Amino acid sequence: MEFVDMRVVLRLLKIVFLLLLCQVSLLSLAGVRAAEPEPLRLVDCEIHLLDFNQSGDGFASLLENMDRQQVTAAWVMGVPLQKLWQEHAPQRPPAYESDDGPVYYYGTTDVIVARALLALTPEQRRRFHPFICGFNPTDRNAVNHIRLMLKLYPGLWSGIGEILTRHDALTHLTLGETARADHPALDAVYELAARRRLPVLLHSNITSPRESAFIYLGELERALAAHPKTSFVWAHAGTAANIERRQHLKGLCPLVGDLLERYPNLKILLSWVLVDHYLLDESGRPAAAWVGLVKRFPDRFLVGSDVVGRFAKLSGAYAGIRAFLSGLPSKVAVQVAHDNAEACFRPPAAVPDRAQVKKRAKPARPAE
Ligand SMILES: [Zn+2]
Repeated sequence: MEFVDMRVVLRLLKIVFLLLLCQVSLLSLAGVRAAEPEPLRLVDCEIHLLDFNQSGDGFASLLENMDRQQVTAAWVMGVPLQKLWQEHAPQRPPAYESDDGPVYYYGTTDVIVARALLALTPEQRRRFHPFICGFNPTDRNAVNHIRLMLKLYPGLWSGIGEILTRHDALTHLTLGETARADHPALDAVYELAARRRLPVLLHSNITSPRESAFIYLGELERALAAHPKTSFVWAHAGTAANIERRQHLKGLCPLVGDLLERYPNLKILLSWVLVDHYLLDESGRPAAAWVGLVKRFPDRFLVGSDVVGRFAKLSGAYAGIRAFLSGLPSKVAVQVAHDNAEACFRPPAAVPDRAQVKKRAKPARPAE
């Protein structure tokens, strides 16, 4: 009798244990479902710390806004051009298109960025990849400016750019020769970039606001073909605000696919007007053609805000980027959001030479 009672008690205990186990599992499942999904962390590959007056909100404001927006790291640069404040202007023009005054190259932009970075704590500084941009891309001295910056601030710099070449209204306002991606002055810059493994962020409009044919494509292609060891990041895939005011570049998506296919040294920065006018459809959903393209080349796209000196605008820039990323498979979204940006600074995987491969493939000799 006592024996039977014990079996019943054991069975009851077993049932109670199983019920408890089920409850714990259900609770933990409910907990997972109830929790908000973690927002994807971003690496922003285009932040201009300074505007065309060489001023900005500064790193404290930038860091605060990055934290708010889950941006863990950023490529930062000044702006290579300074707006001329002409004697007749009643006040300092706030933007380069504010009046008819020209802009001129301003190398000190890199010094301002470097000094501001060096004033940060090492922990804060680790979040930034500074780029050298303060040179005239039509001057053969450009490479000397880069060498000087590398010497003055050893170990600080991560890349070169944004190099401003074809840029519609900005090009018209820039004093001197017209900058273009294949200008001979840039050959030495691209070669130095390849030797020092510095990615080059390049702005090169694909056409003018009024021409539907891609009249400047040849300039970009000649640069890509002549410098296969240089890692190019094409800012906004060659479009700009003034182009978009006049026309929509219908063939842009297939063209980018074609270029990625033919030039392994090319990456695309999804930023600025490219996000606003191409990556999302009229209802704000990820555009199918661009989702397909990014899925085809998942390791060749980066994201950036392209903010210029004012960082309260960051949230607006990321809203479009995040909406687009939500249309990608999660693995690809992670690559585009941050992995690809971080990979730009990693040394390339060593390619074993043929002799080594043969040696490895040879079966081991049996022990004598
Ligand atoms: Zn740009």
